[in-house]
Amino acid sequence: MNLIAGIDIGNSSTEVAIFRRTDGTWSAVSSSLYRTTGLKGTTENVPGIRNALERAVEKIDAPISELDLLLLNEAAPVIGDVAMETITETVVTESTMIGHDPSTPGGGGFGRGVVVDIDTDPAEIEAKSVVVLIPSSVDFASAASIINEWHTQGVDVQAAIMQKDDGVLVANRVEIEIPIVDEVREIDEIPMDQPAAVEVASSGRTIDQLSNPYGIATAFDLSSSETQKIIPVARALVGNKSAVVIKTPEGNVEERAIPAGSVRIIDGNGNSLAVDTDEGAEAIMDAVETAWPITDVEGERGTNIGGMLNRARAEMAEITGQDAESIRIRDLLAVNTLVPTEVAGAVAGEHRMEHAVGLASMVKTSELPMAQIAEKLESTLDTEVRIQGVEASMAVLGSLTTPGTDVPMALLDMGGGSTDAAFINEGRTVDSTHLAGAGDMVTMLIDSELGLDDRSLAERLKQQPLAKVQTLYSARHEDGTVHFFDEAVSADLYGRVVSLADDGSMEAVPTDHTVEEIRSVRRDAKESVFLTNARRALETVTPSENIRHLPFVVMVGRSALDFEIPEMISDALAEYGIVCGRGNVRGTEGPRNAVATGLVLSAVGGGEYLDFAIPEEMAAPIETTVGDVHE
Ligand code: ADP
Ligand code: MG
Repeated sequence: MNLIAGIDIGNSSTEVAIFRRTDGTWSAVSSSLYRTTGLKGTTENVPGIRNALERAVEKIDAPISELDLLLLNEAAPVIGDVAMETITETVVTESTMIGHDPSTPGGGGFGRGVVVDIDTDPAEIEAKSVVVLIPSSVDFASAASIINEWHTQGVDVQAAIMQKDDGVLVANRVEIEIPIVDEVREIDEIPMDQPAAVEVASSGRTIDQLSNPYGIATAFDLSSSETQKIIPVARALVGNKSAVVIKTPEGNVEERAIPAGSVRIIDGNGNSLAVDTDEGAEAIMDAVETAWPITDVEGERGTNIGGMLNRARAEMAEITGQDAESIRIRDLLAVNTLVPTEVAGAVAGEHRMEHAVGLASMVKTSELPMAQIAEKLESTLDTEVRIQGVEASMAVLGSLTTPGTDVPMALLDMGGGSTDAAFINEGRTVDSTHLAGAGDMVTMLIDSELGLDDRSLAERLKQQPLAKVQTLYSARHEDGTVHFFDEAVSADLYGRVVSLADDGSMEAVPTDHTVEEIRSVRRDAKESVFLTNARRALETVTPSENIRHLPFVVMVGRSALDFEIPEMISDALAEYGIVCGRGNVRGTEGPRNAVATGLVLSAVGGGEYLDFAIPEEMAAPIETTVGDVHE
């Protein structure tokens, strides 16, 4: 027995560590990582394992068949899931107003009047002032000449609303200075003969009339109760370069209010605490803390939250072949967030930021069918496979190879679906916990809060810092420093917000957000997930009342690779006087490979730290690069 591999199957990635015995000494010779295939804990994981193994043996020029033994972890029978629940639907009533913010409106100023189509015979217009509607069938030159003609005939044209993106072209050709809002896709939805107000801010400024409820009230002569109802509209328009608000006829847009679902959190004694999701994340987390350790969570049927919790339960039931009723939800992480929601009655896909709660749940079953994975692996690879040990203990053992660490120690394993924590005391017993919410939840929050609807872009914005390309030769980093290039950057990047990859390469961010907006959403998402969970996790696994007694906290898992998460957690824990740092497994792997390394150490040595029986044929000194566990 001379070449063995430890395999850690995570929710997101499958990691491998290979150790070889030469001259009676075991040492690490290779490691690798591959995306986990299928849901963690199912035989669908086998192709991913095979890929990870292939990558690892390639580095040592050996075929997979040379591996004498494969070690699997007894994966914690938990899966994390995330979902977003809008907690209130702001009521938008008959006097609905519509806001819009095209990228290049034309003209400038504020205008109000009755909506008339550009096809109307000017002699038939009765209204004192008009807002002209220009559908895409009328080109910009004809539109401009018609407006000029109307003006000559004495029609008071106050503003224009266009379907195409030609606002600037029309503005350049009309003799009067009017605001022109363009790119109104659903121009047919605009009610005719209704009062409308249009505002286009001068260059570099934002609108000030329509973003102010009293400005709208003035434009439409609203009563105080009507003014109340348009407050969300005014709020949605703050910061816009342009806007159009139309008073729709009564009953045109129905009043809509969606009830927020509720959750029931059940404690160890079977007592339950009910919380409405519209009370926000704090209320939910307070209830989770009060009921801790919780034994289950039920979501109200027919609501998003009920659907999400049941889906997680059903998935777990399917994997394990148990019935859904017996699957328990053991943790919930709720985070307040804002999501862009389409405004009812929108004519150009307008959005308004709506309060929502992001939720991560942790579902637990009695056991995952790891033995089936072991069997399948054994038959496909024709190598002996053994289920070696419990994930948390393996993670501790692997993390203890970080130079400068010792028992007692606390471990924070920050992965994709869950934040796991473990504590090893002087007596070398390990206590562990699995909390809902980790890297995937951060990605989801960034995705929804920026309205991206693009997970891979959200993932990039999570992992990479930003800069703004100011000239072809310089960019301002998000920390304010300016970087000068030796060669001009590509012209497409000019003036753009870009993300910076590890190798320094820049990629444009395909949205209109500023550096500050993205940065603040990104940092808030990371803090609300990882700071909350670091505290909760350490409080759970620490034996004493007070987490101040923790000497070392080692952060592992790939979310610990993040450029700012470890720093945020270290800063927060420094308040308690705790030394906290990113792990460096075997002195070479950074925060990766802790579980895979621990698996091998538990088989060939490392009994110093944990009570493992090591089979005689494998017992030999271990040599790792630095941080040798035998020292
Ligand atoms: P698991 O053990 O659950 O499989 P991992 O330890 O592989 O999880 O962590 C996966 C998470 O790490 C994902 O949410 C992913 O977005 C995040 N991640 C991976 N690389 C980085 C990085 N360089 N910076 C920040 N987060 C990262
Ligand atoms: Mg992991």
